Amino acid sequence: MKKISFKTKTTVMITLLVAAVCVLSVACIVEMSRRTESAETRQSLVKAVERNVDEIEYKNGILEIENDFAFYSGGVYCEVFDNDGKLIDGKMPYSFQTEPELINGRTEKLTDGENEYYIYDTKLDFTKYEYEIDVHSGQIIKYGADVAFAESLEKAEYKFTKFQDGIDTEQAIDIALSHAGVSRDNSSVISVELPGYENIQVFKVEFTCEKPLYDSVWIRGTVPADSAGGAFSAMFKALIIFFPALILIAALGAYIISKRTIQPVEKISKSAKNISSGNDLSKRIEVNGNSDEIATLAKTFNEMLERLQLSFENEKRFTSDASHELRTPLAVIKAECEYALSGNADSEEKEEAFASINEQTEKMTALVNALLSLTRAEQGISRFNFQNTDLSSLVKTVCDGFSTTKNISLNVEISDNIGLYCDETLIKQLLLNLLSNADKYGRENGFINVVLQNQNNDIILSVEDNGAGIKEEDIPKITGRFYRADASRGETEGFGLGLSLAENIASLHNGKILIESEFGKGSKFTVKFFVKN
Ligand code: ADP
Repeated sequence: MKKISFKTKTTVMITLLVAAVCVLSVACIVEMSRRTESAETRQSLVKAVERNVDEIEYKNGILEIENDFAFYSGGVYCEVFDNDGKLIDGKMPYSFQTEPELINGRTEKLTDGENEYYIYDTKLDFTKYEYEIDVHSGQIIKYGADVAFAESLEKAEYKFTKFQDGIDTEQAIDIALSHAGVSRDNSSVISVELPGYENIQVFKVEFTCEKPLYDSVWIRGTVPADSAGGAFSAMFKALIIFFPALILIAALGAYIISKRTIQPVEKISKSAKNISSGNDLSKRIEVNGNSDEIATLAKTFNEMLERLQLSFENEKRFTSDASHELRTPLAVIKAECEYALSGNADSEEKEEAFASINEQTEKMTALVNALLSLTRAEQGISRFNFQNTDLSSLVKTVCDGFSTTKNISLNVEISDNIGLYCDETLIKQLLLNLLSNADKYGRENGFINVVLQNQNNDIILSVEDNGAGIKEEDIPKITGRFYRADASRGETEGFGLGLSLAENIASLHNGKILIESEFGKGSKFTVKFFVKN
């Protein structure tokens, strides 16, 4: 399968994400607007119809639709029907097969097969009456019936008034009620006023009656539902037009972002390739000034290179040191053999030659053994026999069996019952290495102090001498393989592997070796075992 680059992947992913977010947000906006707009459309439909209610009334017994009645306003069409559902006036935008039934107060969405509409019906009951009666003659000047609105139904206080040569308030009420054909019991007089005209004075009597005296009338409002949908279709059209452009911009943006993001990584990979092809571990990757993740990656990579370089150099040095150490005894063996076989050597000289060959062979065996131990220790814990061990008695046994030279006294201070989960042979080896060094580099008539104790939760095993000591600059190096301080080279025997092995053993036991030393005064090697709880 063809490899897809990180840039392409990121570009595609960001583009898809942007597209998904866009579609989702538009869908949300459209849905929310659809809901609010449909609620708004219904509201404006009801308002337009209710505004027209005032414009229909009975005047002197005749139904009148005022000029202000809006048959079409703000997208809303209004029709007026009589109580039998017969159209009186108005027209509709739709073409329904059958006229929908009139239902008072309902708002409903209907379709004529092609388009959708909201309709709203309201029934007008003419229960409020208004009479104007001449105060002198008691004649009805005009009268009418209207729709009673809740707010106008409160009874008003009126003052009793009587005109000389005329009628009084109560008479005016009776005239109005008897003309309407209702009694005082099933009507409520709302108010009696005395509006002044130019040459005529009237009582204006208003009352409501539970039973309407005139036929009810219906107003139906209709509004096309797509007056609300228009905005959505416009939005959809815009979306369809802008969507490709949007995706293009998102893809371009994503490409630029991913290119810029990946650039430093590409730089690192190029440097790594150069280092790898040039086989030069001393080269390093350039780290930019930032402290971002990429810089951290470069730093980590450089640290890894540092360790690799060190490890390769150590290996190289180790191989050359090991061969160097083996070359000398081998050269001696070869020379002694040649001399013994030359025919010039007498039997005593041959014996000397064999003794020398034996000595060199022992040296080589010791070196090979030391190398083997080191390699084994480096291979990890699984090759050893770890068990809970009484470290106090182990240290005591090793010290008891150790004999010093140069009249050095061995002082031992061991706390009882210190246990350690360890490999006995390895710990013995570690202690012996430290003891033999303290003895080897110790002073005539000097001392060696061995202490084993608990310190906090850890275990401390220290070997101290008052011998040659180590130069400060040598201290960090002496645990390296084959490293021997200059002063030790000529004077004492050794390969420079003992401390390296001791350090490996300590780390196998979750420990480390701390070295304190003063050149010419003595040294103290402390092994600290960190005991896990
Ligand atoms: P070796 O003793 O075979 O040389 P080690 O690895 O045991 O190898 O020690 C490395 C070097 O550390 C020694 O050559 C010596 O210079 C120095 N050293 C180790 N122990 C002591 C000590 N107790 N006093 C002084 N120098 C020491």
